Amino acid sequence: MRQHDAMYIDGTWRSAEGSGTIEVVDPAGERVIATVPAGSAQDVDAAVRAARTALPGWAATPPGERAALLTALRDQLAARAEEFAATITAELGSPLGFSTRVQAGVPVKVVGSYAELAASYAFEEKVGNSTVLHEPVGVVGAITPWNYPLHQITNKAAPAFAAGCTVVLKPAEDTPLTAQLFAECVAAAGFPAGVFNLVTGLGTVAGQALAEHEGVDLVSFTGSTAVGRKIGAIAGGAVKRVALELGGKSANVILPGADLAKAVRTNVADVMRNSGQSCNALTRMLVHADQYEEAVALAAAEADTYTPGDPTAEGTRLGPVVSAAQRDRVRGYIEQGIAEGAKVVAGGPEAPLETGYYVKPTVFAEVTPDMTIAQEEIFGPVLSILRYADEDEALRIANGTVYGLAGAVWAGDEAEAVAFARRLDTGQVDINGGRFNLLAPFGGYKQSGIGRELGRHGLAEYLQTKSLQF
Ligand code: NAP
Ligand code: MG
Repeated sequence: MRQHDAMYIDGTWRSAEGSGTIEVVDPAGERVIATVPAGSAQDVDAAVRAARTALPGWAATPPGERAALLTALRDQLAARAEEFAATITAELGSPLGFSTRVQAGVPVKVVGSYAELAASYAFEEKVGNSTVLHEPVGVVGAITPWNYPLHQITNKAAPAFAAGCTVVLKPAEDTPLTAQLFAECVAAAGFPAGVFNLVTGLGTVAGQALAEHEGVDLVSFTGSTAVGRKIGAIAGGAVKRVALELGGKSANVILPGADLAKAVRTNVADVMRNSGQSCNALTRMLVHADQYEEAVALAAAEADTYTPGDPTAEGTRLGPVVSAAQRDRVRGYIEQGIAEGAKVVAGGPEAPLETGYYVKPTVFAEVTPDMTIAQEEIFGPVLSILRYADEDEALRIANGTVYGLAGAVWAGDEAEAVAFARRLDTGQVDINGGRFNLLAPFGGYKQSGIGRELGRHGLAEYLQTKSLQF
C-alpha cells in the first residue's frame, strides 16, 4: 500500500509538527496496513496559511485555466483509478467491483463535470443597472467521512477549485490513504502550491482546529449529525459560511400499483450497497398492509443472497463495515430492534465470519415508526420494513424523522409517484427506480444538512456575490 509519512502542505510533502500517528486498519483482515501522521493545530495553521497565501492568485486565475487544471486532475484520477479502487477496498472494505465502478469511477465524472462548469459558468451577470460578480468565498476547510472517501473529497474540492477557492482537507482518520493519493493527483495535475493542502489527523484535534481557524472562510463538512451540529455552532459563532451534509433515514415508499418485486429487490440492493454505509441509503421500506407479507418474504429472500465475504474476491457484493466500532454500533442497533419488538426475518446480530468487521445482511419486519431502528441512522446493512394503511399514513411515516436527505417512490404510474414525491420533506426522491445523477443537487432538508453538493448548485456554495451599480 502506497503511503506518505508526511502531509501535503504548500505544494510539498512535509513532516507533521508532532510525532503522533494514526494506524490504518484493513477491516476485512483486521490488520494494520499503514500509518499516517496525526496532524496538530500547528499543522492545520500551516496549511491554512498556505491556502490564504495562494488564494489571491488562484481567485484571479481565469476560469478557463482553472477548467484546464480540473481536466488534468480528472485525467490523473482516471489514470490511477485501479490504485484508488484497491486503496479504498483496503482501508474501507467495500467490494473491489463497487470500489472500481463507484468509489473510484464516479469522482472522475464529478471532477470532469466541474471542469466543464468552470469553463461555462456565468461568473458575471447583468441585473438591471448592476453587474453581479460571483466571486470565490475564499479558503475552504473541508472535513470528510470515510464511507465514500474519494467522492466526498471531490464533491468539495472540485467545485471549490472551479470557483477559485483554495482548500485545506481533513479526511476521516479511517481512510487517509485515499486522501494522500488524491493529493498526489492534484500535484501531478499541476495545481499551484497552496491551492490544495492535506492535513491527516483526528477529528477532535485537526478537524476541530480547522473548523475554528479564523483563516477559514467556509467550513464544508460531511458526516454525522452530532458532529455537524458542533461545526455549525462554531461557524455560526464566527459568522463564517458553513455547508453540512449529514445523515439520513430515507424512506422507500411502495404504493399499491407498483411493481412490488422490482421495488423490493432494488431497495435491498440499495441498502446492502457499501455495507449500508451510505448517507442516502433507503433504510425504511414502506409497504401497504395488503402487500406487506409478500414484501417481507421477498426482501428476506433477497437479503439472504448477499453473502458477506472478502472484498477483494471476485463476485463479493457485501464486504465488512469500516471498523470494529462501526460493527459494534450496527450490531447494537440490531439488538435494540429485537429488544423493542421488531422481527428479524433475515440476518441478525451474530458475526457471520470469524475475522473481519462483518455484519449479516439484516431485514426487520413488524417495525413501527416509534422504534429506534425506524428513527436513527444505523449505517450498516440493515433494512426496516414498515406497514401503512393509506397514502396519508405513508406520508406521515415517511416524513416522521428528523432527517430528510433522500427518498424513493414506486407507483403504477409516474404521475402518481411524482405527486407523492412533492409532499416528501426531503432533498432527493428517486421515481420508480430513477438513477443517481451527478449533476443534480444533493443535500438535505431538516437535520440532514445545510447546502447542496454536485452540479451548478454545488458550485454556487463556493461563491459569494458582489453587485456593481452603473
Ligand atoms: P463523524 O465523526 O461525523 O466523522 C466525519 C468527519 O468529521 C471525520 O473526518 C471526523 O474525523 C471529523 N470529526 C469528528 N469529530 C469532529 C470534531 N469535533 N470537529 C471536527 N471534525 C470532527 O462520523 P463517524 O464517527 O466517522 O461516523 C459516525 C456516524 O456518522 C456513522 O455511523 C453515520 O451514522 C454517520 N455518518 C454519516 C455520513 C454521511 O455521509 N452523512 C458519513 C459518515 C458517517 P475522524 O475520522 O477522526 O473521526
Ligand atoms: Mg469519528
